[in-house]
Amino acid sequence: MRDREERELDKLVEERENELIEYLSELVSIPTFVPPGENYGEIVDWLIPKFNDLGFRCERIELPRDVLHRIQDETEGLIGERVNLLAVKDSSSSSGAKESLDIDIYTHLDVVPAGEGWSTPPFRTVRKGNRIYGRGVADSKGSVAALLMALSLMEELNLHSRYNIRVALTTDEEIGLYSGLCYFADEGLLKGDYLLCMDGDNEGICIATNGVMNWEIRVNGKSCHSSTPFLGVNAIERAKLVIDELERLKERVESRESEVPCSPFMTQVTGQKHIKPVFNLTMISGGVKENIIPPSCTLRGDRRYIPEENEKEVVKELEEALQRLKLEHEHELDFELQCHPGFPPMYTSPDADWVKEVQTAASAAFGVHKPITGVQGGLDVAYAVQKTKQPVCAFGVGSSMESNAHGADENVRIEDLKNYVKFLVMLLLHA
Ligand SMILES: [Zn+2]
Repeated sequence: MRDREERELDKLVEERENELIEYLSELVSIPTFVPPGENYGEIVDWLIPKFNDLGFRCERIELPRDVLHRIQDETEGLIGERVNLLAVKDSSSSSGAKESLDIDIYTHLDVVPAGEGWSTPPFRTVRKGNRIYGRGVADSKGSVAALLMALSLMEELNLHSRYNIRVALTTDEEIGLYSGLCYFADEGLLKGDYLLCMDGDNEGICIATNGVMNWEIRVNGKSCHSSTPFLGVNAIERAKLVIDELERLKERVESRESEVPCSPFMTQVTGQKHIKPVFNLTMISGGVKENIIPPSCTLRGDRRYIPEENEKEVVKELEEALQRLKLEHEHELDFELQCHPGFPPMYTSPDADWVKEVQTAASAAFGVHKPITGVQGGLDVAYAVQKTKQPVCAFGVGSSMESNAHGADENVRIEDLKNYVKFLVMLLLHA
């Protein structure tokens, strides 16, 4: 960007701060929390005329219920149509791209429920000091508002995007189900040469996420009267042996690390320099009554695996650990393991041109070097790019340290919103 253009852009972003906040307020006021996610149609219908005015062709795309049911057995608690938006502006339109490269820009329109402990009304934005409060302002409606503003400023300044732009604003991300984005990927609707994910935080350019696998172990016993325990098998006591073995496995798993650095925030809190695999025991249930020897005990948890690991190895490692235990306690232990794979890991090379472009634009717009990072969580975008093989990175508007996404008083700095507008403009223009 030339200096004069950059100054003009700065000035306009300042002048239109209120309009930017107004976009965000409108988006927040449509309660798209999931479950139940019943207002997806409303938010997409609000967005369509906005994108039409900016020269985009819009498609309102519903994820058919039978597709959702086929892939996901638990759809309980979901109400209404699963509506998503695809908005496309290509080089055939007057201010379209000069080159024929396409970019997909993605984030999600759903948010988590309000929860408790708010000091402001969660579905109305409130400005306090230099921040805006409301559910979704950071995760991830702030980036949607910034995108609308960035596209509108480009029209006004007559700045032409170097890419054909395809905007995918999809739903059901927060419930961790088969999301609208997964459906877009399966339907071949993601066609960009590059994919920008506007979900996540603004501390670094995220190129990697962990894969997710949930597991469940049912330990079987034999119930009987608790006064004669020798007649039965206490499943909870047996489960303790399994828990001990899982603890040893956890130690081995978590001694590994990825090549991918973690965020500076993570390093500050944990001393950890790279993302790591994680093994958690998170749920336990068993027993019938105080005076009955428990017939079964079920343990559940998750395993998050780094991009250098793969799902098969992860399952095999767990199976082998349990197999060893079974051999040690011959005749005594009876259990069944079930593994439920979730999102795969995501990885784009830090040397990819696309990553460098996003990093350059983000660093320039925010006025500070944005490092390349990975996160230990999982993203639906990982599922998508496993299909599409697109180079992807995630860079969002909020701060993982300050925004309290998913918590009470979710907030975003107005400065970050404005910098995000500049980031998008800089990315879409020639570097
Ligand atoms: Zn999000």
